[in-house]
Amino acid sequence: MKVFLFDCDGVLWHGNTLLHKIVDTLDMLRSKGKQIVFVTNNSTKSRRAYKKKLDSLGIPAEVDEIFGSAYSSAVYIKRVVKLPADKKVYVIGESGIEEELESEGVRYFGGTDPEERKVMQEEDYTNFVPDPEVGVVLCGLDNHINYRKYAKAFQYLQDPNTLFLATNVDSTFPNKGKLFPGAGSISAPLSYMSKRVPISLGKPSQAMMDAVEGKFQFDRKRTCMVGDRIDTDIKFGIAGGLGGTLAVLTGVATEEDILNAGPEGAPDAYLDKLSDLLR
Ligand code: PLP
Ligand code: CA
Repeated sequence: MKVFLFDCDGVLWHGNTLLHKIVDTLDMLRSKGKQIVFVTNNSTKSRRAYKKKLDSLGIPAEVDEIFGSAYSSAVYIKRVVKLPADKKVYVIGESGIEEELESEGVRYFGGTDPEERKVMQEEDYTNFVPDPEVGVVLCGLDNHINYRKYAKAFQYLQDPNTLFLATNVDSTFPNKGKLFPGAGSISAPLSYMSKRVPISLGKPSQAMMDAVEGKFQFDRKRTCMVGDRIDTDIKFGIAGGLGGTLAVLTGVATEEDILNAGPEGAPDAYLDKLSDLLR
């Protein structure tokens, strides 16, 4: 294998705690000339913010080695959809999405704008004028999700010409040993009200694989996906026809999950922890 795509949380760290000998393991892979890409579904952080997180944990990395679902969404809108310059994106989500849309030169509104956080008043219903420039609704994890944002997004989604994208559709994500609602649980009400399903730009969607490949131009057969979830990471690698998939038991999946995944869904190999590669 030449390239290793790493899921982050559950493989390299838990929240803010680095897992056993991760830096040594990554150093070992780099010293053997392996290319490393950090692939995360977390849309709340831009690549720049992720680099800060990697720095704070002592993991050496370049911004260009990081690929998050916010960036994936921005790349998809700019380079695959080729959203015309006179169109813009209505964002439900955090600053990570805004920063990455800016990095790709995509116009947007919504997001972290404080006006978006206000309670809907009677006049807001009467005065609502849809912005004719909206071409995309992009939904990620949003800590300030509210009725106003749903109501606005719904106005745009009723137009079949408006593209419906989600940074990722994870139902939940783990933090400090507990599960919390993920980005998929934020976009699910939009699907319910609009009767539309978003295109996801996170694992296991192959739109993300195409975006990663578009940037790194790697040989899929010489690329290995490493992750802690069967339904996102391992599925992502298998569906993408990668040369290998490796699961670690430091995150969501248990050994039982792997053994029950069946011949189609199981990883090629699994380890108790990533640093077992040092052996
Ligand atoms: N979404 C959010 C908001 C998260 O905080 C996380 C993990 O921290 C994830 C998704 C899953 O990220 P990953 O793909 O790195 O496991
Ligand atoms: Ca993970």
